[in-house]
Amino acid sequence: MLTRRAFVTSLAKALPAVLSFASAILAGQFLLARKTTRSLYPSRKLPYADRVVSGVIRPPGAVEEDRFLAGCIRCYRCQDVCDKGAVQFFTESAGRYFHTPYVDPAKSACDLCMECTQVCPTAVLQPMRPQDRAQVRMASVALDKDRCLSHKAKRIRHEQRLLSELGRPHTEVEGESERRGICGECYMVCPQRERAIRYEPGSLLAPLVYEDECVGCGLCEEICRVVLRGEPAIKAVPIRPMV
Ligand code: SF4
Ligand code: SF4
Ligand code: SF4
Repeated sequence: MLTRRAFVTSLAKALPAVLSFASAILAGQFLLARKTTRSLYPSRKLPYADRVVSGVIRPPGAVEEDRFLAGCIRCYRCQDVCDKGAVQFFTESAGRYFHTPYVDPAKSACDLCMECTQVCPTAVLQPMRPQDRAQVRMASVALDKDRCLSHKAKRIRHEQRLLSELGRPHTEVEGESERRGICGECYMVCPQRERAIRYEPGSLLAPLVYEDECVGCGLCEEICRVVLRGEPAIKAVPIRPMV
């Protein structure tokens, strides 16, 4: 029969083997979980790759950033429910932001349907209804008048008028400036039309932006990117600093 001393000795001898077996199982489980996560959520290109990152645009209803990072359980439900494809997720290279959601209008803007706010299990995206959209503050907006078609057309017309008044010839094809002035697409898509974007008085569809009224959906940036076939003249600007 095994004495108590012999039992303790044999246990001590077997301990390293048992520990190494257990750690092998744990390591295997870790690698499997990591592989599963990666295959479910494959790595994407770093967000905001084409712009200076001064902050992050979260989906609507996001609580203050510290609380958001602490409370988001990285469940991806907001992305699953977003038919617009507006919800992106940070990858490993984003450090503590890894597996948290953001919106990049260069990929897809948010149409403020508020579905993501309804499914968030921790309410770090607080429940909102589409009719609450004026309360949203995802970002602000900036307009580059030098790139905007309508503002360019306005300048051309102004120059033409000056040249005509001076009796100097100009080469503008008749009607060209009017055609170039007919844009105003950002105004048309803006859910805060007549508040965040208004037409400049006396101009032909030249937009002016009012940052305080902007909800930061990025719909203006999305359409302008199409109109200009590249770098847009109007952009959603992050207002939430990365902590
Ligand atoms: S409000 Fe709608 S469109 Fe915007 S991020 Fe949420 S689910 Fe997507
Ligand atoms: S969509 Fe772009 S180009 Fe057109 S009016 Fe707006 S800012 Fe200007
Ligand atoms: S100005 Fe642009 S970002 Fe702001 S509410 Fe209007 S469409 Fe959305």
